[in-house]
Amino acid sequence: MESIGVLTPIPMYSGLEEELEKRFKLLKLWTAPNKGEFIRDHADSIRVYIGTSGIGADADFINALPNLEIIASFSVGTDLIDLELCKERGIRVTNTPDVLTDDVADIAIGLILSVLRRISDCDRYVRDGKWKLSRDYNLTTKFSGKTVGVLGLGRIGRAIANRAEGFGCPIIYHSRSEKQDVKYKYYPSVVELAANCHILVVACALTKENHNIVNREVIDALGPRGVLINVARGAHVDEPELVSALVEGRLAGAGLDVYQNEPNVPEELCKLENVVLLFHVGSSTFETRVDMTDLVIRNIEAHFSKKPLLTPVV
Ligand code: NAP
Repeated sequence: MESIGVLTPIPMYSGLEEELEKRFKLLKLWTAPNKGEFIRDHADSIRVYIGTSGIGADADFINALPNLEIIASFSVGTDLIDLELCKERGIRVTNTPDVLTDDVADIAIGLILSVLRRISDCDRYVRDGKWKLSRDYNLTTKFSGKTVGVLGLGRIGRAIANRAEGFGCPIIYHSRSEKQDVKYKYYPSVVELAANCHILVVACALTKENHNIVNREVIDALGPRGVLINVARGAHVDEPELVSALVEGRLAGAGLDVYQNEPNVPEELCKLENVVLLFHVGSSTFETRVDMTDLVIRNIEAHFSKKPLLTPVV
């Protein structure tokens, strides 16, 4: 398979690059001074493209690669890939589900704790030398027992619910359909879900239909004692509305791993103490990167060996 051209758009996890380089002809788009020229020069040999959570493949990109056979995404979300066009052109698409579920659920719980118990803010208090000057730090908010609303009861949503149950939290949820295999209370709308929980955790897949699913009405329903956690995609949340609710005290706090225009984070958010900001690191652990690498490689190898793909999307 050494002659198969595999295109990577940005520097990837080094372990993935090493494994790709061992097996295929790795073409690093990001090293080219002129990307358009690079694509034109290598278009005939590129048969595999590695997508990421931040860089997908739109119609122009896909159409520039006449021999593309498979997009193996190094992420679970495939919202930036033109899946319809892939179907039309017979291009296979794979992603990396399951192996990252635990990490993303862990980070969601970490964000909840960090926002409610002000862990990041306490850390800054110590580092800034404020503890030596005064112990006059406001009390924080208890997590155990608070109602957690999960928006999107998929793999990650369920893992978050499982963990929150361990904190004695009642779990409620909204998904496109009610699940028969869980005992959590289902709400048929996001507004109703938000109105009935303390902590709303966004864990759904991004589709054309659910951009800004967390809008002003939802934020207002969550209310001044409510907390929003987003570990899914920035586009799920109306960011200007979130910022104004936090600034105006209409929402108690937020913990965010994802943003509308990554890597740009609204400046106002950086000034707020009741907000914890991560930089799309939900699945960024050594262990999970190794497992994601394994899935990407095995999917590509399965495709070229004419075997069933392990995690097909298209
Ligand atoms: P999944 O198992 O496919 O679950 C996604 C769930 O979203 C589905 O079960 C679906 O449930 C729900 N959903 C879709 N549209 C919805 C809507 N309009 N309203 C409510 N729920 C909706 O995927 P997953 O593995 O849990 O991953 C979920 C998402 O997390 C990914 O798509 C990705 O965007 C994000 N993610 C983020 C990170 C990070 O680093 N922060 C890492 C991995 C994944 P129903 O069919 O029941 O509606």
